[in-house]
Amino acid sequence: MSEQTPSVREVNENQCQICMPLGSVIAIKGIEHSMVVVHGSQGCSTYMRLAMVEHYNEPVDIASSSLNEKQTIYGGEENLRKGLDNVIRVYHPKVIGVVTTCMTETMGEDIGRMIDTYLTDRNLHDVDIIPVSTPSYSGTSTEGYWTAVRDIIRYYGNPSPPHEGINIILPQVSPADIREIKRILDLMRIQYTLIPDISMTLDRPYGILYEKIPPGGTSREDITRMSGARATIQFGYCCPDNLSPGAFLEEKFGVPLHNLPLPVGLKNMDRFINTLISIAVKPVSESILLERGWLCDAMADAHKHMAEIRPVIYGEPELVYAISSLCVENGSIPPIIATGTGSPQFHRHLESLIRDLDFVPLVAEHVDFALIAKESDHLGVNLAIGHTGGKVLTERQNIPVVRTGFPIHDRIGAQRIRNLGYIGTVTLLEQIVNTYLEHKYQHYRQRIKSEYFDNGGKINA
Ligand code: SF4
Repeated sequence: MSEQTPSVREVNENQCQICMPLGSVIAIKGIEHSMVVVHGSQGCSTYMRLAMVEHYNEPVDIASSSLNEKQTIYGGEENLRKGLDNVIRVYHPKVIGVVTTCMTETMGEDIGRMIDTYLTDRNLHDVDIIPVSTPSYSGTSTEGYWTAVRDIIRYYGNPSPPHEGINIILPQVSPADIREIKRILDLMRIQYTLIPDISMTLDRPYGILYEKIPPGGTSREDITRMSGARATIQFGYCCPDNLSPGAFLEEKFGVPLHNLPLPVGLKNMDRFINTLISIAVKPVSESILLERGWLCDAMADAHKHMAEIRPVIYGEPELVYAISSLCVENGSIPPIIATGTGSPQFHRHLESLIRDLDFVPLVAEHVDFALIAKESDHLGVNLAIGHTGGKVLTERQNIPVVRTGFPIHDRIGAQRIRNLGYIGTVTLLEQIVNTYLEHKYQHYRQRIKSEYFDNGGKINA
């Protein structure tokens, strides 16, 4: 692990992280018949709505308690109550997630108490209102996401009869990635509860009847049954222990936890399939074996180029770890591996991934793009893999970006990016190699010519 890893920085310039409640909102959107109320000023919910609309290309409704100067001083309970009244009247949700913001956390708003009082006063029994505390100055969207998933599972966490199904807990991935995981589970004929499921709620097909709350999502009934599952597979390799929903299910209800890296790349995907085989005691399907073979074929095609690629990989820890693992197993050593957040788990797993490499990458946690740009120059980075934030690397340093993760608001189709599974990996691997090759050959002749003349008519060896 590099000694250059920055510690907590006083000034963040062009940050590589997103606001904490935004992660929670995305997780809550994966619950069936749900709505979100952001308890804070209107600007917070507008920012979150914009980020999600631009990324998913979907209408996204997020309510706000719209606090202004007066409520900031005297408290925001009345506004929250009015907001909940309106949301229930207009949307008829079964579940409402109430997330806090920087301001309401600083004010010390006790939303748990406020919600209890509201439910008693209104005598409401058919809607579940779940408080999620997300002070953005103490975490990023990653922590916000895991906090919401854990709090939702905890809310419905009562003992339930044992059954054959397994729990699948996902970090923030695309709707297309979730569909891929479901397809694999269906191919292996495995019963499951997958949470949170944004595969329909944030990627509605054209032509279905418009409803204020989109169809899809994990149902309350299924979440309640998670405590009786045979096991949990959680793709939360880098998730801090105190936020881990799978750890909660294991500690409280004895559901064995298999905490795995995201199934990107041959090694990680094999690990997922082998875990499924061991839990469900079922053979792997023929078509999955074929897909594995296609990935091996793609790796053979890619390997002669991968060694030339020196990528910076940045973004949310789970995806950063999984893509780093993919690059390493294909012969590309990333000079920089970076995330805007960090956790002991992220640090530890990366350490064992990079321990035996020819050179030790810079692993940067709590990082901003100013540092990524500076180190990219220094370490000869020739490709970036991550979200839209990396576009500054193209604009200023001519480093092309393979766009993946969240947010992507300068391209379309983010909701359909598929990295997971053998087939998703093939697409990602090809995109990495082809983006690099396109850039390499774009200025190929020009570069040789200028090098030739700069060198007094001699060609560099
Ligand atoms: S003020 Fe805090 S909660 Fe609101 S958008 Fe900004 S970082 Fe997020």
